Amino acid sequence: MKEPAQEGHIGSTRIAPPRPAPLPGPAGAVDAPLPAAQQPQWPDPAERDAVVAELRAAPQLVFAEECDRLRERLAAVARGEAFLLQGGDCAETFGQTSADAISGKLRTLLQMAVVLTYAASMPVVKVGRMAGQYAKPRSRPTETRDGVTLPVYRGDAVNGLEFTAAARRPDPRRMRRMYDASTTTLNLVRALTQGGFADLRQVHAWNRGFVADSPAAGRYEELADGIDRTLLFMHACGVEPNGVQTAEFFVSHEGLLLDYERALTRTDERSGLPYATSGHLVWVGERTRRPDGAHIDFLSRIRNPVAVKIGPDTRPDDILGYLDRLDPHREPGRLTFVARMGAERVRDRLPALVTKAVEAGARAAWVCDPMHGNTYQTPSGHKTRRFDVILDEVQGFFEVHQELGTHAGGIHVEFTGNDVTECIGGGSAVGVEDLPRRYETACDPRLNHSQSLDLAFRVAEMLGG
Ligand code: PEP
Ligand code: MN
Repeated sequence: MKEPAQEGHIGSTRIAPPRPAPLPGPAGAVDAPLPAAQQPQWPDPAERDAVVAELRAAPQLVFAEECDRLRERLAAVARGEAFLLQGGDCAETFGQTSADAISGKLRTLLQMAVVLTYAASMPVVKVGRMAGQYAKPRSRPTETRDGVTLPVYRGDAVNGLEFTAAARRPDPRRMRRMYDASTTTLNLVRALTQGGFADLRQVHAWNRGFVADSPAAGRYEELADGIDRTLLFMHACGVEPNGVQTAEFFVSHEGLLLDYERALTRTDERSGLPYATSGHLVWVGERTRRPDGAHIDFLSRIRNPVAVKIGPDTRPDDILGYLDRLDPHREPGRLTFVARMGAERVRDRLPALVTKAVEAGARAAWVCDPMHGNTYQTPSGHKTRRFDVILDEVQGFFEVHQELGTHAGGIHVEFTGNDVTECIGGGSAVGVEDLPRRYETACDPRLNHSQSLDLAFRVAEMLGG
């Protein structure tokens, strides 16, 4: 086994905590184990323990101060003063850590953010589903093809997508690869967002290399012209606006794999509190959100901003449970609810949940994931989503908040910078017959670049642009 890392400090987060953060679990069990859904059955516990030990000694990926800054930004969202744009792949893969793939996603997200900011005159908090989105909850434990049944793919952090017994066997060493792929991604994201790449004066350049002939791309070029003229005008007046040279960008993922998340939890020197250092924000998904389960318990023990995805079967009392466990002090920015109700149900189901939260004194942010409640399978066997249905869920989400006098705080979407054909419709009009052409996702269908821009324009209109 490796020597433990030298103790030291970067920022105020200890590189290797001399005492483990008080978390339950194999590495430092202090509590009775809680029910933990969707965990892989690692074939060799000793091998798992060795990887966990390695990760416990590895440097953190993000820093406590950065997590605190995101919490402040999300507090503005909760107060109705900002809008959250969160998105990226459904499942990142180890094979897609090329500079092109990562910068394509980043550029797409920056473009969407600029559309929303310009149209709504409201700060947009930018958060990638990036640098850690490698573990997937699944509806079924196995998959059958042509009479052969194998364990289901659970994300590159657990097993391989290829339909063979060898690939589908859970391998704990993949958690180390998840850490390495996250490091690679985050390194590039940090360099790009802090360097000239994210400079608002590059607003035209972000569009370069993408399909140029979609209606959304044309609309984007017009908007970019407007931004250029504004910046030139300000420059001519002797005004140099602050904050246009770099972009503030955060990363997030589903905190699903408890072995990994616990191993990367570190004690913050300033406060003595534990932080998940695997990403700035971690969320718990629809399948692991039981209020008395291990995932909610994990979130309750970390100081990061956290989110819970809630589906149409969420009960108002569950909301109270999340508030009491995760945000007892009703601190704006600490807790975000990501509603993924489905377009048909959002107008019915969401009001009672928001009302319950308001009555309980919640200061949580509300965000709409219009993807996961609207997935269906085509006769050809492709999982897909329709652009107009996605849009309808966002519309319904806005209507509910308008009615209740609360803030529609953001969107959480699955997209890629590539010209894939996974979702149907949108400005570039992908048809059902186009799906096989570029269906590349490892898990759920993503909006392609022009569908993403299109969505940003439509949401900007809802925001009053
Ligand atoms: C996801 O975000 O990819 C996901 C599985 O979502 P949910 O937990 O909302 O179903
Ligand atoms: Mn998904």
